[in-house]
Amino acid sequence: MNERFDPQGEKPDPAKAELREVVLGLRHFLEEEREMGKRGWPRTTAGRPAKAPPVVVQHSPGPTHLDAVRAELGDCRRCKLHSSRTQIVFGTGDGQAKLMFIGEAPGRDEDLKGEPFVGLAGQLLTKIIQAMKLSRAEVYITNIIKCRPPGNRNPEPDEIHACEPFLLKQLQVIRPKMICTLGSFAAQALLKTDEKISALRGRFHPYKGIPLMPTYHPAFLLRNPGRKRDVWEDMKKIMKEIEKI
Ligand code: URA
Repeated sequence: MNERFDPQGEKPDPAKAELREVVLGLRHFLEEEREMGKRGWPRTTAGRPAKAPPVVVQHSPGPTHLDAVRAELGDCRRCKLHSSRTQIVFGTGDGQAKLMFIGEAPGRDEDLKGEPFVGLAGQLLTKIIQAMKLSRAEVYITNIIKCRPPGNRNPEPDEIHACEPFLLKQLQVIRPKMICTLGSFAAQALLKTDEKISALRGRFHPYKGIPLMPTYHPAFLLRNPGRKRDVWEDMKKIMKEIEKI
């Protein structure tokens, strides 16, 4: 840069010279910008950076906690079963379980206690779980429908339909690696099939991206103890898959 002529013969001030160079450079830059059609600059609040673009909050597609699902279910009156139930039987166990057992519907004991599989069939299920070297607290246990049908009759289509969104939300939260359905009813309802449990059991079926193993219901095993061997074969397949995870 050319130094300004100083008639007084004073020594040029290097700081002033540098400042002048910056100002000239800036002016040159602004002139170029104007020639290119740029008019004005976004305002900033003094001393603060320009406003950041708005943060887009990604709403999660579903609930993240079982308490939220239970709260949404509330004092459910979405189907006729509410009038005969003692209480809703939501589900029990680990909210992050790798393995989820899904039965049919609460019976009398479950309706009174508010917990799935606590009667005689439930005690057998507990033994099966323990034989798998797991505990009830390490798995999650629920049913297709959350209220006891009167006289333990089969759940009806409108009852399954009303309850299904809550089972799906439980699955969404828990995200089990594997599902084991107990009895023909649960397997047929989830897999939307009429196939018999004897044909469905013993192999994994894909269900919403989760391997699902249908097996006999423990209540059926109480009447047909000879079938326990089959159930144990099914459980061994589940254990083998869980070990890989
Ligand atoms: N049978 C089921 O299917 N579920 C229970 O919770 C109890 C018995």
